[in-house]
Amino acid sequence: MGAAVDVSAWMSEHGHEQVVFVADAAVALRAVIAVHSTALGPSLGGVRFWHYEHEDDAVLDVLRLSEAMSLKASVAGLHQGGGKAVVLCDDPYRTRSPELLRALGRAIHELGGRYLAAEDVGATTADMDGIATVTPWVTGVSESAGGSGDPSPVTAFGVHRAMRAAAQAGWGDPSLRDRHVVVQGAGKVGSALARLLVGDGATVAVADVDDARVRELVRTVGVDAIPVADAVSEPCDVLAPCALGSVVNAETIDTIRCEIICGGANNQLASEEMDDALAARGILYAPDFVVNAGGILNIAEELTGYSRDRALASTARIEATVGRVFAAAREWGVAPGRAAQRIARERMAAEALPGGRWEPGDPAAWTDGRPLTRLRPEA
Ligand code: NAD
Repeated sequence: MGAAVDVSAWMSEHGHEQVVFVADAAVALRAVIAVHSTALGPSLGGVRFWHYEHEDDAVLDVLRLSEAMSLKASVAGLHQGGGKAVVLCDDPYRTRSPELLRALGRAIHELGGRYLAAEDVGATTADMDGIATVTPWVTGVSESAGGSGDPSPVTAFGVHRAMRAAAQAGWGDPSLRDRHVVVQGAGKVGSALARLLVGDGATVAVADVDDARVRELVRTVGVDAIPVADAVSEPCDVLAPCALGSVVNAETIDTIRCEIICGGANNQLASEEMDDALAARGILYAPDFVVNAGGILNIAEELTGYSRDRALASTARIEATVGRVFAAAREWGVAPGRAAQRIARERMAAEALPGGRWEPGDPAAWTDGRPLTRLRPEA
């Protein structure tokens, strides 16, 4: 059973604006949507379909993930806030019914644009298309429907750029050739990252609870397979967490044997103290919400007319941003995660919309003045 969460107390402490519980028994939908902040614009964040042992686990996940999305959007320079949705399900990788997606879409629609949905763990482009049948407030829909499709390859591209920045900071050379990288999670992001790394000449080992995904990468890309239980403690140059959160926790911290942690997963640290603990152990941690911003940069492009080139160009800048975070951490004498948080929160305070929140009907505030194309607020 998960630890009980005092939801409104957590919201007050962490600055969440709104948490919505959604249930529709007829279609077996149970979900929680959290809007952390709309200070910089409407909240944007993925829908996670996952099997949670207990509702409290889902609530804690959505609270933490939505806050991380605010930090991510802020450091990435977007006029977006942070939000997230989690859907409690028995099998996250089973195809969803159109009725469930419509019910979820209606709940998203009722938020009036304060939350824009996207893909996350367990989600597919088809899920986004299903949600889009009842609301315009969803991104990552099929390219045939005017969307940008699955953001994961762009996320992986950004993680790869971030890893170069970490290599530069750690070893004085951005090249990943001959480096040994462990990728934990061979899903959409992890598998795309593994391909990029093999292309670089890195030696890549992959672990996933789903053996078939690992076998596919071994067969098509030439990575090594390692047991799930060994992924975090495997001696390597870089550990790339690309599965779920809290990989670095009180139990694992002393077992980690890498020089750099840089991966696509959200909320890799179980707590802020883990940031300090990694720094104390001399492990360079590239803050997850800076590293994995490629997905959000990609889908934000969709709001004003998608351009893959523009999305890749802004995602490539993650390399420089990660370098700036490491430099700030050194200058301020803090661990990199804390430095990234400070950068994010300072921008959220300095550039907040009047009143500190985005109001429905003010789309100009979140598109940099560029006209909205696919998303029509009046739809
Ligand atoms: P996914 O569902 O495609 O892949 C997740 C993979 O992790 C699955 O293959 C699953 O079997 C595996 N997994 C789960 N628990 C594991 C464990 N204990 N050990 C090893 N493998 C395990 O999801 P994804 O879209 O690739 O997302 C991966 C991570 O990246 C998530 O934390 C997500 O929030 C984050 N992220 C994704 C994007 C994106 O564009 N998809 C963007 C930003 C952040």
